[in-house]
Amino acid sequence: MTNNIFWTGGFDSTFRLLQIINDDKISEINIYYITLFIDNVNHSNIGRRSVDVELKTMLNILSVLDTSKIKSFNIIGKSEDLLMCSFMFNYSFMNYICKEEVTYSDKTKILYFDLFANDFVNRPISQYTYITDILEEFNIEADICLEYNPGNPRSFWSLVSKQIVGNKIELEAFSKFNLPIISLTKEDMLDISIKKGWTDVLKLTWSCWYPKDSLPCGVCFACKRRVI
Ligand SMILES: [Zn+2]
Repeated sequence: MTNNIFWTGGFDSTFRLLQIINDDKISEINIYYITLFIDNVNHSNIGRRSVDVELKTMLNILSVLDTSKIKSFNIIGKSEDLLMCSFMFNYSFMNYICKEEVTYSDKTKILYFDLFANDFVNRPISQYTYITDILEEFNIEADICLEYNPGNPRSFWSLVSKQIVGNKIELEAFSKFNLPIISLTKEDMLDISIKKGWTDVLKLTWSCWYPKDSLPCGVCFACKRRVI
C-alpha cells in the first residue's frame, strides 16, 4: 500500500511518519512539503518564517530514519525557494516542484471566500486551502496531520470539527484529506512514542512558527503546545 503524507518536520507529522514507516502494510511513502509563500494575512503573501529551519530539521531527521520505503520527497514552492533546499538533494528521492503562483480552483475559491466572510481567514485557512489545491492538482489523497485540538477557537480544527467524521472531513473541498491522528492529542502521541521508542526522533522535530536566529521563539502557539 502507498501512503502520501504532508510532512513539516514538526511533532505531529513526524509522529505519523514514524507510524507509517513502522506499518508493515505500507510499502511506499510519498512525502510532500510546501515552502508555502502564502500565509497569515489574506492576499498579502507573507512567507512562512520557519521554512529554513524546517528543511534543516527534516534533513536531520531523515539521517536517523529508515528511508527504504520513501519513494519520493516532493518540495513544492517558488523557483527562488529551490536555493534554500538545494542542500537536501543528496537523497535520490528528492523532487522539486515549481509552483510560482497560488491558483485556487473554483472549489477552493468558494471555500476561501466563504471562510473569509466568517472572519476566519488566517494562517491555517491559507495553508489548508492551498493544500486542497495541491491535492486536486496531483489527484492524490494524503495524510494531513491535524491533531485533536479543541483548545484554540481560531484553529483549523475548530473551524471544521463539526464536519469531522472518522478520519475524514465531510466537506467536498477537503475530501482528499486523510486525518490519521485526528483523535489523538499531543500528549497521546507522546505516550505512544514512549512505548514505541520514538522519543529520540521526536526530540529532533521543530515546532516554532517564528524562529529567531534559528532558535524557537518560546511564545507562539506552536511553542506553547510543545510537549517534548
Ligand atoms: Zn515559537
